[in-house]
Amino acid sequence: MVLPCVAVLIFSATIGADDAIPQLRMLPRVLLFALFDGLAAREFLRMRHPQLQSATTLYWIFALFCVFELLRAPFSLSLPAPFGPEETQVWSIALFNFLIVLQGLLLGVFLTALGREQLAAQHYRLALIDPLTGIGNRRALDERMEALALTSRKEGCTAVAVLDIDHFKAINDELGHAFGDIVIAGAAMVAREALTGEDVFRVGGEEFAAIIHAHTPEAIMTRANAIRIAFEARSHVHGGLSRRSTISIGVAMLHLGDEAACFAAADEALYAAKRQGRNRVVMAKPVSVAPAKAIDFAAAAAAAAAAGRRASA
Ligand code: GH3
Ligand code: MG
Ligand code: MG
Repeated sequence: MVLPCVAVLIFSATIGADDAIPQLRMLPRVLLFALFDGLAAREFLRMRHPQLQSATTLYWIFALFCVFELLRAPFSLSLPAPFGPEETQVWSIALFNFLIVLQGLLLGVFLTALGREQLAAQHYRLALIDPLTGIGNRRALDERMEALALTSRKEGCTAVAVLDIDHFKAINDELGHAFGDIVIAGAAMVAREALTGEDVFRVGGEEFAAIIHAHTPEAIMTRANAIRIAFEARSHVHGGLSRRSTISIGVAMLHLGDEAACFAAADEALYAAKRQGRNRVVMAKPVSVAPAKAIDFAAAAAAAAAAGRRASA
């Protein structure tokens, strides 16, 4: 983007009274302006993001100026200065200055807005990350669930897993809070490694949630179990102390549109895992989903009763 600007400056600086054919300088300058606008438009196109609305606006500003330069290029040898080599006219000076002021104003406003939007987007990203583990927090999980509800279903099945480190309070009490933090960070790392490509979220002190995709419920259990086994095998080391720990996991198949019930079912399965002795994965019984169906049944029963009354009457 800098090169076309430098080239335009050189062209402009070398225009002199003794120039034999000044007309020939006009066309390359117009094309260099168009090249600069086109390259700038491309940069803002690459930057486009729902949280950076100004990048989209700046893309359109540069794209329109690029089109304008290209449209005037064929007439650049016959237009009045400063658009072309002919004698200056009032309208040409007025239009030229208007366009410069317009572009300057638009760029000033939207580049300032873009800077603020980038800062806001950075703060927003940070607000979704848990600082201890570097993974998403509960808010990130909520966003992920919303996104999941909007996208079409992948092949296979999806489950929610809720993970909780066993007897974590004892680790804190015996080895200190700092050691506890190391164990929490270790659990996040193990879950992320075991579920490559899936999202793991820290939803509480030593509690995590994960969305697991697989072809079958059995494969989902295998993936969840892989986290449990890897965590059990991991030694947590801090301040010259080393300790192993275990994790319990509750899993529930996810029915889109009924996420809250599935989370509750996964939580229930987690507590079943705790009751059964910890360090295990428990799959929740299928959630009775579709309250709409229950309402339908009730409505159907009422309609049938009403029909019966009408018939007996
Ligand atoms: P269970 O096997 O039934 O899950 O027992 P537990 O001891 O793990 O469960 P409990 O919920 O009683 O203990 C959780 C502890 O986690 C209590 C709290 O002090 C601690 N905790 C919460 N957040 C943090 C944190 O960020 N760092 C550390 N080190 N400890 C935390
Ligand atoms: Mg807990
Ligand atoms: Mg616990």
